Amino acid sequence: MKDVIVAKFGGSSLADSEQFKKVKNIIDSNGDRKFIIPSAPGKRHSKDHKITDLLYMCQQLSSHGLNFDEIFNIIQKRYEDICNELDLTIDISSILKEIKKEIQDGASKDFAASRGEYLNSIILSGYLNIDFIDATEIIVFNNKGELDMKATEINIDLKLKDIQRAVIPGFYGAMPDGKIKTFSRGGSDISGAIIAKGLNAKLYENWTDVSGFLMADPRIVKDPKPIEKITYKELRELSYMGAPVLHEEAIFPVRKAGIPINIKNTNHPEEPGTMIINDMDPITHCGTITGIAGKKDFTVISIEKTLMGAEKGFFRKLMSVLETNNVAIEHMPSSIDSISLIIANSELNSKLDKIIEEIRIYCNPDTIICYPNMALIAVVGRGMINTKGISAKIFTSLADGGVNIRMITQGSSELNIIVGIENADFEKAISAIYEAF
Ligand code: ASP
Repeated sequence: MKDVIVAKFGGSSLADSEQFKKVKNIIDSNGDRKFIIPSAPGKRHSKDHKITDLLYMCQQLSSHGLNFDEIFNIIQKRYEDICNELDLTIDISSILKEIKKEIQDGASKDFAASRGEYLNSIILSGYLNIDFIDATEIIVFNNKGELDMKATEINIDLKLKDIQRAVIPGFYGAMPDGKIKTFSRGGSDISGAIIAKGLNAKLYENWTDVSGFLMADPRIVKDPKPIEKITYKELRELSYMGAPVLHEEAIFPVRKAGIPINIKNTNHPEEPGTMIINDMDPITHCGTITGIAGKKDFTVISIEKTLMGAEKGFFRKLMSVLETNNVAIEHMPSSIDSISLIIANSELNSKLDKIIEEIRIYCNPDTIICYPNMALIAVVGRGMINTKGISAKIFTSLADGGVNIRMITQGSSELNIIVGIENADFEKAISAIYEAF
């Protein structure tokens, strides 16, 4: 469907009646916004509660046989206020009453959590005066609880083809037996992406409370520039390094279909936001970087052994130690007689001593040294390819900023340069690199 825009609105975009009004204006301002995917009401201010969190609490209390009236009343009031303030005639109180009963009667965690999106979608469809289609009719999982994309696409074809416009709740779908299953937290982004892919939409809009991605973390760098265009690949490099805005699994369905994602701000719809585009699109900003992101708390296990590269099976044995301990490796820079394993501390937990001992036994290295408290910083940009001097600029900025670089790797796609530094230098390093560009 070439003129279709799928628009997902996040929790803060639909947190109260004022936000609903903004959302309606946005939808009304472009007739191509035909399929709308809402989240549950989010926080209205920093001390507020997300409806999804409250629903999880109700289910948990109920599963222990405890009374959850007080929490359910907060949920009830949020929805009733929205309906009253928007002058809607929907009997939301009766629907809430049924949901409360189902939770009392032992409804699952996923069922309880999904009601946040369900209720918000009923309200939004009433307010916009367009169809409500339940996500259970569209998004389906297989018996293992994995998304069944084929069956989902058939549903989209069957159920949405002849529908002009509809509101479909985000975050959940149905198991083969009809029971509700949710995605992981923040999963309405995934629902929107799946529906955009199934409809072959021209654009997937993701409306939130920020105007897209920034070049660096605003808690570290003052007023970082927004990123207007970024490729899916660059975003992968930045998001895995800890730049949250979009659920990372939301990229895959639309990326495959070449559908761009536009991150937009419900509170400032006039701002362009960030456009996430296909990797094949021409490079428009040669010589500059797209963004900087980073993460603290890694441990480096540095292993030296003369002629390790010539020893057949050395790397296999090393990897099998990590595999049997169920530990994922972030990076593995190497030189002729040495290799470093960079591992997130959260992966290691208390396994470090055991892993070192096993590497000693299986790989018989000359030395093993551990460096805890390392941070990684990724400088990402497709404009870095074929541009001389980018790395010089990064390393000079770090040297001038007094940061000691402990490790450097460059991704084989030449999209990123990753530097390892001490945790303590993290903020200083990001600021120094940002200033240099
Ligand atoms: N409401 C769900 C959550 O809080 C899903 C979402 O907002 O995307 O995680």
